[in-house]
This record gives sequence, structure tokens and C-alpha cells, in this order.
Amino acid sequence: MTKKNKSALTEKSGVSKPKTTSRSSAEKIKLNRKKHPSVEEFVQQIVLGDITFLSRAITLIESTNPKHQLKANKILEGCLPHANNSIRIGITGVPGVGKSTFIESFGKYLTSSLGKKVAVLAVDPSSSINRGSILGDKTRMEQLVIDKKAFIRPSPSGTSLGGVAQKTRESIILCEASGYEIIIIETVGVGQSEVAVHSMVDFFLLLKLAGAGDELQGIKRGIIEMADAIVINKADGDNVKNTKMAKIEFKRALHLYPPKENGWIPKVLAASALENKGIDIIYEMIDEYISNAKQNQFFDKKRNKQNKFWLLETIHQKLKDNFYNHPKIMERLEKEISLLEKGKTTPFNAAKRLLKIAENKNFD
Ligand code: GDP
Repeated sequence: MTKKNKSALTEKSGVSKPKTTSRSSAEKIKLNRKKHPSVEEFVQQIVLGDITFLSRAITLIESTNPKHQLKANKILEGCLPHANNSIRIGITGVPGVGKSTFIESFGKYLTSSLGKKVAVLAVDPSSSINRGSILGDKTRMEQLVIDKKAFIRPSPSGTSLGGVAQKTRESIILCEASGYEIIIIETVGVGQSEVAVHSMVDFFLLLKLAGAGDELQGIKRGIIEMADAIVINKADGDNVKNTKMAKIEFKRALHLYPPKENGWIPKVLAASALENKGIDIIYEMIDEYISNAKQNQFFDKKRNKQNKFWLLETIHQKLKDNFYNHPKIMERLEKEISLLEKGKTTPFNAAKRLLKIAENKNFD
């Protein structure tokens, strides 16, 4: 109805001038296309580097509307042949360590000094809870935000980390198809999200501060193990001396971890994101890592491994969701837990019965 009314109005407005009849219908088509571009148009424009189309496609990816998801999937497939040609860098560290400041400085270096196109995305599980997305406050990247060679997208919200991570991974593909050569994925170094980010990047960078213990910095051992490099940020002013000592300590600590599969020995570097110091050396290190990884085929091997990881992860997640959200299972689960508490069954028998229900249901 509304559409009809709208088109009637458009037609009406063209009546007074005879020649505009055809123009107005052409305009109508254009307008409609603008509102609902086809999958082909999306892909074409994304590949041409159109930021508006890229943003709109990411919005479709993030939508929970099944129709949007269907379209997003088609766009993704169309973009796939143009993707996979960037360097994906994960950046993590506790709040306050200077991630935003670092990304601003690092990003500017990449766009201005090296002429590269940079996309910044985020995986932030906390944003779904308190809506405080880590990239939500774009003002923290004042210069990068207005940089024509940079694309910054705040973290998507979602109910599960798996869902949020999937959206980010899909956004990476679109950014790559759009010609972004470096994709930076930011995350907070306090929880499970690092594992997710580590599984979608080529290089994983951990930002730390000098003079604070790991416990104080809230960094888990596993995260240090995942890091390809530790950068001690805020190496300026009175902190310079502390940073030198911290560098030695971190290097020693890193030796305690098993060597990386590709033989890479994680580096410890210092930087001042605020004063733009040490930024070029960090990029050189990443570049060296990538060159080595490409030479010995580790680069592709790692990406293939990551693809397999996400394939299985997506299946596990879907199976779990379907299982636990099924009304019959939900009802039975409560009963089984009650029987378990009364000592009337064992966990294994209860699980068997629940799984039997699932077997008889055709979960899609
Ligand atoms: P994030 O929470 O990890 O994103 O940290 P921010 O980038 O928001 O930085 C937190 C605070 O540390 C801000 O006040 C920054 O100005 C400050 N900061 C960030 N990097 C540096 C640095 O290299 N040196 C100094 N002295 N301060 C910094």
C-alpha cells in the first residue's frame, strides 16, 4: 500500500512536465535500487570500494531478520572471490592499555606513510551486555575516523560470542573485497573473545604496560601464549626506564612457552601510541612475519586451519542452540536435573534420554 501510494505520488509529481514522465520512472527505479540494491549491485559497489555499500552490507550481516541474512549470505558469496588478500591483525589488551590510541597511531601510519587502506573491526562480547562497544566511541580515533583510506566499524552486538565473532569474520571478507589491505580486529584482553579473534587473524598483538603484573593487568596466561608479539605501550616520559626492564622480563617469560608451529619467536617491542613512537618498527615486524609465513606456506595453512575451526565451531554452536532451545528438551532437562538431585538417575542415563529426544526430533 505505502509503496503504491509513494509511486503514485512520484508519478503525479512528474505529470506537469511532459518529458519528465520517462525520467521520473527512471528515477523511480534508481530510487528503488538505492533503497533495495540487488545482490549484484552490492557486490559490484563493494568491490569498487564504495563505503556506503560496504556499511550497508555489514548491517545486513548483523541483522537478525532472516531475509536480511539470506541477502547477506549471497553478498558474501559474491564477495568471496575478491577476498582473502589482506593482512589480518588482532590487537588485544586490557581496558586503558591504549588500544584505541594505538590503533589510531598505527592506522594513520599505515594510511599516510604507507598509503594502505585500513579497516578496523571489533569483537567485544561485553557490548551485548552493557552496550559499551569498544569502538562505539569513534571519537577516540579522531584522525582515523575522517581518513578516506580507513574504515571503522563498531563492534556488533549479539547474544553469544560465537554469533558476534561470526559477524566480524564475515565483515572481514566484505572489507577485503572492498580493497582494505590491512584489517585490524580489536578486542578486550580479559576473556574468551581473544580465542575467537586469534582464530581469525594472521598476527596477534598483545598490548601491555610496564610495571604492572599479569594479574594486575588481568591478562590470562593463555593470551600471552597466543601472542605473536607483545608491545609495551606508553613507553614515554617517566615510563621509558620501566619499559626497558619490562621488555627484558617479558622476553624471559616468553621463553617459557612452547615454540610456535611456524618457528616464529614472539617479539617484545615498546611503543608510545600517544607520541607515535615505535609504530613503524611494529609494522616492519609484522611485515617480516607475514613474508616468512607466506614463504613457508604457513600463511595459507593457518587460514585453512582457521576456516576449518569456524566450520566446526558454527556447527557446534548451531547444534547446541537447537538442542537447548527446543521446548521438549528444556522441559525434560528440568525433570532430569530433578531426578539427578534426588539420586534417582545418573548423569549418563539422563544425558542418554535427552539425546534420544534430540535424535527423534528433526532439528534443522
Ligand atoms: P583502551 O581502553 O585500551 O582503548 O585505551 P585508550 O586508547 O582509550 O587509552 C587509555 C588512556 O591511556 C588514554 O587517556 C590515553 O590517552 C592514554 N594513552 C594511550 N596510549 C598512550 C601512550 O602511548 N602514552 C601515554 N602516556 N598515554 C597513553
